[in-house]
Amino acid sequence: MKALRRRLFGTNGIRGVVNETLTPKFALRIAEAIGTFFNGGEILLGYDGRTSSPALASAVASGLAATSCKVYVAGMAPTPAIQYAVKKHGFDGGVIITASHNPPEYNGIKVLGNDGVEISRKQEIEIEEIYFEERQKRAEWSRVGEIKELPGIIDDYIEAIKTHVNIERIKKKNFQVVVDPGNGVGALAAPRLLRELGCKVFTINANIDGTFPSRPSEPKPENLTDLAAVVKAVKADFGVAYDGDADRAIFVDENGTIHWGDRSFALIEKEFLKENPGETIVTPVSSSSLVKDIAEAYNGKVVWTRVGSVDVSHKMKEINAKLGGEENGGVFYGPHQPVRDGAMTTALILDILAKTGKKLSELLNELPKYFIEKDKVECPDELKEKALEMLYEELRKENLKFDTIDGAKIWFEDSSILVRPSGTEPIFRLYAEAKNRERTSELIREYREKLTEIIKKLA
Ligand code: MG
Repeated sequence: MKALRRRLFGTNGIRGVVNETLTPKFALRIAEAIGTFFNGGEILLGYDGRTSSPALASAVASGLAATSCKVYVAGMAPTPAIQYAVKKHGFDGGVIITASHNPPEYNGIKVLGNDGVEISRKQEIEIEEIYFEERQKRAEWSRVGEIKELPGIIDDYIEAIKTHVNIERIKKKNFQVVVDPGNGVGALAAPRLLRELGCKVFTINANIDGTFPSRPSEPKPENLTDLAAVVKAVKADFGVAYDGDADRAIFVDENGTIHWGDRSFALIEKEFLKENPGETIVTPVSSSSLVKDIAEAYNGKVVWTRVGSVDVSHKMKEINAKLGGEENGGVFYGPHQPVRDGAMTTALILDILAKTGKKLSELLNELPKYFIEKDKVECPDELKEKALEMLYEELRKENLKFDTIDGAKIWFEDSSILVRPSGTEPIFRLYAEAKNRERTSELIREYREKLTEIIKKLA
């Protein structure tokens, strides 16, 4: 029966549309399963700025307390601030109510271990089993847990970030920065952090509003044209945008050019490796070859993972790596915490600008350039595994160099392509990358045809 069971946890926790799949009643019952999993420990609870977050948090607090957990409520805060507080205070675990960058009708539940990192896939399944088998252990009346407030976690978080950069060197530069939290909880930390680092801070979309009236919550280039315009208008040194729970950061240089996350990450990687040669960088197979080029040029190693921030965090913990990153603007700075952290990423960029004395555009333009093209091929879910096997077979026959960590990442001399089954839709995603546009298009065409052919044979 177990194989037929529906998964509740997705790539980053449980997600659903509020009062359709994600109701307070569900939140209460899953929280009782989470509380049973933690066996009545001390749990930190926090939430993002979504309209439904306080209501869902109340249900989760009740469920945890019912299973004799002692609940500390941190209130509204960026995801990485809550993660940091779990580790700092030595809680047994944490729960965050957030749907990150999803549209406003969504919300979600993330579960953290005692180091603030999201629990492993195996632990998620343990919680699901408790839930489906209805093994929630409700405590007798005298052992129902307390629910207390824990104020001040954002102050601690900001102070912690500051210990990882050269404050005096940054302050001397009097940087001007435009911050766009996109109406999300990033508004509570980054502007303060930057002011404390001596920056003149301009904000746009910094009123927390769970309806996300200003721009979609995902900091994609097409959503950041206002930020780019303000950076140019006020002649700022750079602009930064966060997603809804502020664990991802996307940067705009002083000319108003928006840079996708693998470029800002590669810059951080380069400066990190200059100071820490020989270190290992952890990144998903969907990242640009830039990460590999920089590692080769600056005496570092790359460990590739499956796509997903939890995979990156857990790999970093396993091999004790200090830096990880994703193409979507997630940077994991281990000395602070091995999770994505938007404000920490911003502080690292400031530190690099102060150290090098160069403009952000100069630094980013010094990096190797790649052309990227994406595409998708439709494939029914039940054929995905077989199709991938057949593709591996063909690649072996052609004697090509490829990784099978997540789909197939095929490496060529000056280019690469990732063919990966989507976890959420009946499609394969294709990401090609090369030093010229013609080669990227050629790769996309070739692999789209190969895959279409395989799926046709299977159907
Ligand atoms: Mg997020």
